[in-house]
Amino acid sequence: MEGITLDSSVPEHIKGIRCNVKNCVYNDQSAYCTARQISVGPSYATAGIDTICGTFRPRNR
Ligand code: SF4
Repeated sequence: MEGITLDSSVPEHIKGIRCNVKNCVYNDQSAYCTARQISVGPSYATAGIDTICGTFRPRNR
């Protein structure tokens, strides 16, 4: 039988990442990020409030 074989060892979300940005296409609405990887910056941040997820993509464009 032909078809797509899913590897059950691949996590459905990034382990260890909790994110409340529900307006992001990668957010599963349960505070998990389903992106393959994320990029966070900027490099000159001095506090958590300065940081931004560069992988964020809005749900409604
Ligand atoms: S890509 Fe960034 S903003 Fe979007 S769900 Fe993942 S961590 Fe959150």
